Amino acid sequence: MKILVLNCGSSSIKFQFFDMEGEKVLSKGLVEKIGLNGSCLVLEKATGEKVIFEGEILDHKVGIEYVLGVLTSEKHGCISDLDEITAVGHRVVHGGEHFKESAIVDSNVISEMEKCIDLAPLHNPPNLKGIEAISDIIPDMKQVAVFDTAFHQTMPKHAYMYGIPYSLYMKYGIRRYGFHGTSHRYVSKRACKILGTECENKKIITCHLGNGASVAAIQNGRSVDTSMGFTPLEGLLMGTRSGDLDIGVVTYLMEKEKLGSDTASILFNKHSGMLGLTGISSDFRDINDKAAEGNELAKIALVMYHYRVKKYIGAYTAAMNGCDVLVFTGGIGENADQTRKAICDELDWLGFEIDEKKNKGLRSKEAIISKDSSKVKIMVVPTNEELMIARDTKLLMEDK
Ligand code: ADP
Repeated sequence: MKILVLNCGSSSIKFQFFDMEGEKVLSKGLVEKIGLNGSCLVLEKATGEKVIFEGEILDHKVGIEYVLGVLTSEKHGCISDLDEITAVGHRVVHGGEHFKESAIVDSNVISEMEKCIDLAPLHNPPNLKGIEAISDIIPDMKQVAVFDTAFHQTMPKHAYMYGIPYSLYMKYGIRRYGFHGTSHRYVSKRACKILGTECENKKIITCHLGNGASVAAIQNGRSVDTSMGFTPLEGLLMGTRSGDLDIGVVTYLMEKEKLGSDTASILFNKHSGMLGLTGISSDFRDINDKAAEGNELAKIALVMYHYRVKKYIGAYTAAMNGCDVLVFTGGIGENADQTRKAICDELDWLGFEIDEKKNKGLRSKEAIISKDSSKVKIMVVPTNEELMIARDTKLLMEDK
């Protein structure tokens, strides 16, 4: 069974094409700058070599035509006919309260997804455009939607409600939804597999630390809490997002700086976090470099970052009355050994003991990095959201 996975953003489409026999990636790449100058498709070969196809890619439909063109091209392709694609799996950011798991796309699913646009106005429309484009180009292609929020739909009410009038939850659906669900689900399952255990009866904390970052508390294989909220703004300090913040700061700044809601949203989503604090970059590597050169703002931003992740680990250990496994993933979680160490340092009282030798220099590799004596297994598990989407798609095709 061959499955195409699409992740359609506002001006980009990431794709991976899987042969599910052996879960092999046959092709992958990215369509960039859709509707802008310089639009192109970048094909990433297994050798690491990149082939760039430039062209006028005005919309998502044209972008997807490029993807399908590359998959079937004589020189760079891996199939001779589109018939060889069994189904297309789409990453969809918001599934609201309706979608508790992945779903085969039909008109009902599309109309439920449209109802979620209000909750994710920047993300759900391009996701829907991707689905529409496939329907236009290959009308009888089976499609599956895999939602970032779905995994967190198991959170209990006391974890997902905010302390605001209940009527606002009823009227607008204002509650914690959480994001990165596909990643938290993948790495928690994978961690259990590596440990040779079932997720049942396990208490797992997963730290997805990328440009966006979130922590999840997972008990018996189900998410019971997560740090992102109604939007991805809540929780950890991120590349450009502030994370947790007293709402009083928002109203105060809106008044003092005469900010409208759009400008305020840009301030806290795009100009805050590590970028806003340091004025250097949102990229962790740049901040690490500057901190090493002695830059004080970079140093304090890193300490703040570590401190906040540590606080969430403590909170979720309390929420679950224990923790068996702590997993690091995402660009920072997978690569930044100093960050993992700084987060785990002085958490030994709670049973987290990192092994400096196992941790040091470990990059993008599955590994256990805790001491043998550590009560909690600390692990690095590179995330693979695309594979999870492909697996869900395959399962739904087999169930049909
Ligand atoms: P996204 O949320 O965009 O998918 P990623 O998961 O790719 O982000 O993570 C990007 C972050 O990972 C960047 O801040 C980058 O600096 C950081 N990162 C990648 N490699 C390293 C590394 N070797 N050391 C420290 N940080 C790294």
